Amino acid sequence: MSAPTVKTRERLSEVRYEIRGELARRARELEAQGRKQIKLNIGNPGAFGFRAPEHLQRAIADHIADTDPYTHQQGLPAAREAIAAFHRQRGTPNASPERVFVGNGVSELIDLSLRALLNPGDEVLLPSPDYPLWSAATILNDGRPVYYTCNPEDGFLPDPEQIEALVSPRTRAIVLINPNNPTGAAYPRALLEKIVAIAAKHRLLLMADEIYDSILYDDATFQPLAPLAGDLPCLSFGGLSKVHRACGWRVGWAVLSGDPMASGDFHHAMDLLGALRLCANVPGQFAIDAALHGEDTIAALCAPGGRLYEARRAVVDSVAASRHLELVTPAGALYAFPGVVGTAAKGFDDHAFALELLETEDVLVVPGSSFNVPYRNHFRVTLLPQPADVREVFTRIERVLDRHAER
Ligand code: PLP
Repeated sequence: MSAPTVKTRERLSEVRYEIRGELARRARELEAQGRKQIKLNIGNPGAFGFRAPEHLQRAIADHIADTDPYTHQQGLPAAREAIAAFHRQRGTPNASPERVFVGNGVSELIDLSLRALLNPGDEVLLPSPDYPLWSAATILNDGRPVYYTCNPEDGFLPDPEQIEALVSPRTRAIVLINPNNPTGAAYPRALLEKIVAIAAKHRLLLMADEIYDSILYDDATFQPLAPLAGDLPCLSFGGLSKVHRACGWRVGWAVLSGDPMASGDFHHAMDLLGALRLCANVPGQFAIDAALHGEDTIAALCAPGGRLYEARRAVVDSVAASRHLELVTPAGALYAFPGVVGTAAKGFDDHAFALELLETEDVLVVPGSSFNVPYRNHFRVTLLPQPADVREVFTRIERVLDRHAER
């Protein structure tokens, strides 16, 4: 056979997104053969029976006749005003509708904002573990991810000294994911203040992925970054996918705050890139005001008795009872990131483990190394299945790890 005519972008070979990768494909094959699985790979609440709140659905239904035209590239004015007001209430300086960008999910805005920012070879400080879109979008926009490590020994919190040591003349931005996917860590104010000081000293853009901002458990609190950043340029990301359980609507936003002089042409770059893709999905934008200024529907799910809380409790209890696992209890978000320890961890390969778990126990998890960590003894589960299913999953995991320990 002759060589293919179509060649693909070379840097794609550096990009991984295993949350929907090989293992998910294999799971579908097995499913087609009639195998019933418990899937804990994707943070997609709607796939587990969670519904977007009714008042959000109604807001879209009521306006469906108004959704035919394209909107302004940055989003519907009323939606942007609602987002800006939400940010002003939080104390974000200079949050105005003109500095809000509505996108097809936070995903699109991560890509657009890095495209607006990076020149070839520019560096972005990313957490390890990260949500792998951040690495992928950095690479595909010709940048270079430089990882600061968030280790389980430190409760998966970043170390500001390490972050500062990684700053180079090519560094353009510091990305924070708070509350964190995949670890569930929620960052304390004092730590964020130190990171803001580093951004100020080295003139870096702060990029705060806060899509899980009100998914918090027990006494965990969320500290938004922008109010601490003050005059520094800061781009804060939020959306409807997680807190409002509306992943499929594809609604996210980014708010540029700080001194407009300091962010130079960045606003115009975002506006231009937004214009090139015309606008974000319009029906979903009509739900934004209702989501941000209507009834809170997430707190009850995260409180004792709530489904997310009880699923998290099921993970915590199961790990406590396990002979092979350890866990930093997630303070927020929709995930847990347990590590395998002891004899089962000897020669452990997270991919081989995840495949074995799928093939032999019909459970789908994501190997930890998919989140750009150098170690291979972790895996990520979502907190979305019914708590009883989560317990069942950990019974099956324990069975596989018992076998590993005996090898
Ligand atoms: N950021 C983080 C940390 C995420 O976990 C996700 C989705 O899982 C996204 C961004 C993208 O969300 P969406 O594009 O649905 O707004």
